[in-house]
Amino acid sequence: MTVGLYVGDGLRRYAFGDGHPFGPDRLDAFWTEAQKQGLDQRVTLLEPVSTDRAAIERFHTKDYVDLVIERSGAGTGFLDYGDTPAFAGVYEAAACVVGTVLDACDRVISGELRHAFVPIAGLHHAQRNSASGFCALNDCGIAIETLRAKHGMERVAYVDIDAHHGDGVYYGFEDDPALIFVDLHEDGRFLYPGTGHAHETGRGEAKGTKLNIPMPPESGDAHFMQEWERAEAYLDAARPEFILFHCGADSLAGDPITHLRYSAAAHGHAAERLCALAERHCQGRLVAMGGGGYNRANLAAAWTRVLDRMAENANQATA
Ligand SMILES: [Zn+2]
Repeated sequence: MTVGLYVGDGLRRYAFGDGHPFGPDRLDAFWTEAQKQGLDQRVTLLEPVSTDRAAIERFHTKDYVDLVIERSGAGTGFLDYGDTPAFAGVYEAAACVVGTVLDACDRVISGELRHAFVPIAGLHHAQRNSASGFCALNDCGIAIETLRAKHGMERVAYVDIDAHHGDGVYYGFEDDPALIFVDLHEDGRFLYPGTGHAHETGRGEAKGTKLNIPMPPESGDAHFMQEWERAEAYLDAARPEFILFHCGADSLAGDPITHLRYSAAAHGHAAERLCALAERHCQGRLVAMGGGGYNRANLAAAWTRVLDRMAENANQATA
């Protein structure tokens, strides 16, 4: 049993140009560090793959997909009110992020892989009918819908430690009791998108099925580890059949656009615990998505730590 890692131009193309916080050099920074640590020798390398419109429309509305395709062809303007520029080919690039996450889910379910990691993925701000915060298509939401529709998974868990609240996933499933949702993020009073308050636990029938943990600005590893225990107890009780892990690295100290102060140890801790949790509940089925992270050294450190913990666990699970 092994861990799949997706790298290649297909993922690199989802970026907003050189010099942008979400630039193409993010993937390069991670990949250089992964090779330096010899992680490329401990995982199975896989090529990114695209997907079709039918899969995308499991989460997004038809009208919104039409709009992304149209602006992607034009290559100008914005997909939202100003955060997410429509570069030429943005639809194809985002569809490749989505397809790669879906491929990772397929290979984990088939047993070919124990876990998988997709560094450029986790576009968690896109809503069902709109773009937001650098996110054109919500690969996380599409993966959740696909795990249900294609693989019959009922209890999918989505765990997010990016500094920003995963609002596209939260509001996309706010009234859906089957989605197990845990999100530790910087308190919305201090950071975009301003949501994810502790009282947001789901709506209607889904009330109590979502756990939002807002962290005060400047929170470090100690506070993260303490709150993690609550997140883990909640996940254990929910007995997931599949775990999607959004390991955004913008929650590390030194990120240019957020105010949390974790180190890569927080990401390593979460990854190690989620691997163990996945072994307890669902034969190790865990797919991680890189998410945010705009300080290149930070994202390289956090994402390689996650990948290292996954490779170590898969090795032990096999032994
Ligand atoms: Zn973020």
